[in-house]
Amino acid sequence: MLNIVIFGAPGSGKGTQSARIVEKYGLNHISTGDVLRAEIKNGTELGKTAKGYIDNGQLIPDALMIDILASVFDSLKDSKGVIFDGFPRTIAQADALKAMLKERGQEVSVMLDLEVPEDELMTRLIKRGQESGRADDNEETIKKRLVVYHSQTAPLIDWYKKDGTYRHINGLGTMDGIFADICKAIENI
Ligand code: ATP
Ligand code: MG
Repeated sequence: MLNIVIFGAPGSGKGTQSARIVEKYGLNHISTGDVLRAEIKNGTELGKTAKGYIDNGQLIPDALMIDILASVFDSLKDSKGVIFDGFPRTIAQADALKAMLKERGQEVSVMLDLEVPEDELMTRLIKRGQESGRADDNEETIKKRLVVYHSQTAPLIDWYKKDGTYRHINGLGTMDGIFADICKAIENI
């Protein structure tokens, strides 16, 4: 299996580039943000819990998130590979992902870090909030999410460098240009 972690700050383009990777390489896409938003939309207990954290710019607790991820992963049958979008977001989640994949005879093939400057992230997310009405894409919540990104998620860059799977991608440019760089990184695995 080709298992890809797509990584980056909120608004770095993980969802956009994931869709293209899925199409080109025939992978399954697991977006934890999309999973949680679907639960909120359906009014489930999990959705109610998640909404409290998301609207406040915080992460869902690791134990809960790790269970969700494992059950979504196990629901995929005969997959050529998976793109993990929005997971892991903490060191505990990265450790859990490694262990979960190992138990299933799998591993992360590559981690793609989409790097985008902070002022550009802010511009993109405010625009997305205006167009899509996503509740957490407002200036106050975006600022909290960026603080959470720097304190809890960015340490994963060193984690994946040590793991040997880290690849840097310049996330500033045209969507096609960025996708071309991603394809190069995937084909170099
Ligand atoms: P992007 O714009 O690059 O797709 P994003 O940060 O805007 O990224 P999502 O990945 O959709 O958005 O996540 C939205 C919210 O869902 C997060 O702010 C967080 O509250 C929650 N969430 C998603 N994934 C996780 C996770 N792995 N652990 C904890 N909380 C998560
Ligand atoms: Mg997303």
